[in-house]
Amino acid sequence: MPARLLDGNRIRDEILLELRAEVEALAAGGVRPGLAAVLAGHNPASEVYVRNKIKACESLGLYSERITPPETVSTGALLGLVDALNRRDDVDGILVQLPLPPQVDAKRVLGAVDPAKDVDGFHPASVGALVTGRPCLVACTPAGILEILKRSQIPIAGRRAVVLGRSDIVGKPVAFLLLHEHATVTICHSRTRDLPAVAREADILVAALGRPAMVTREYLRPGVTVIDVGINRLTDAAEVERLFAAAPARLDQFRRQGSLLVGDVHPTDVAQCAGAYTPVPGGVGPLTIAMLMANTVRAARLRRGSRA
Ligand code: NAP
Repeated sequence: MPARLLDGNRIRDEILLELRAEVEALAAGGVRPGLAAVLAGHNPASEVYVRNKIKACESLGLYSERITPPETVSTGALLGLVDALNRRDDVDGILVQLPLPPQVDAKRVLGAVDPAKDVDGFHPASVGALVTGRPCLVACTPAGILEILKRSQIPIAGRRAVVLGRSDIVGKPVAFLLLHEHATVTICHSRTRDLPAVAREADILVAALGRPAMVTREYLRPGVTVIDVGINRLTDAAEVERLFAAAPARLDQFRRQGSLLVGDVHPTDVAQCAGAYTPVPGGVGPLTIAMLMANTVRAARLRRGSRA
């Protein structure tokens, strides 16, 4: 049977539609959720990400503000800026776009965000609440992964979940979310022995490695559900030819575009071996901004004392 494609764009649209109704209901009560995005310096990728986040706010009817301190900004200046945003009642969510310029102490800046406005879910208080199963704002990509699984009716309780990668922003939080849904969870990393054998135990395999197409068929138990978090842009022709020698459509795409976006999972192998999988692009990626919007609306409600 062909693998089922888990369409992130469709699930994102479903979530945005639900949020639109919530935003309208809040507006009727005089509340307009607001997001402030702090974009320090000139990182082209960050500029695109922030532009897309602001666009999403605008199309949903949220208030948004882009604050652009210079590349030379100090830790102290950013702490002052975050403090001012913490105090503003019209700002429900504060997003500090990473990476920050090298002279800035990013952990200190992220730690200064009021946890009630921590729509990225990176604050230690948010992480602690997640680990201990308390209501909190959850990091957007991991939250999006859970939405994909639940809205696709993939059973989680009692299943074996293997998470490849232990980063603070993806691997660890998604592992706790799966654990809270009663999966038996294994977290893997660069010191894990015989990674393919551990991965093959999975009913649900989450790949968050940052290694293009590393997860090949030897990692995949037939029928497994695969969530590919990786976003890797390949520009090296030799690498593309090595990875996709047996996938002429991908080679053609690379020749036309001069680059190729691939996940951490080999696209041909996963389509042949998995039961269900998220593609790259069009899988986990679209959910990240949708969950940022959801967190902003949720923060607006929670700050006004309404339940999530
Ligand atoms: P990260 O901070 O670089 O973490 C990568 C993790 O993978 C680390 O835990 C590392 O192990 C592990 N790893 C790397 N190579 C390995 C190997 N050969 N064998 C076993 N483990 C290995 O990455 P991240 O921030 O979690 O991001 C992961 C990927 O997701 C990236 O491609 C990123 O672009 C993408 N991403 C996508 C979204 C989205 O919206 N779709 C959001 C965030 C990230 P160690 O800890 O031992 O070093």
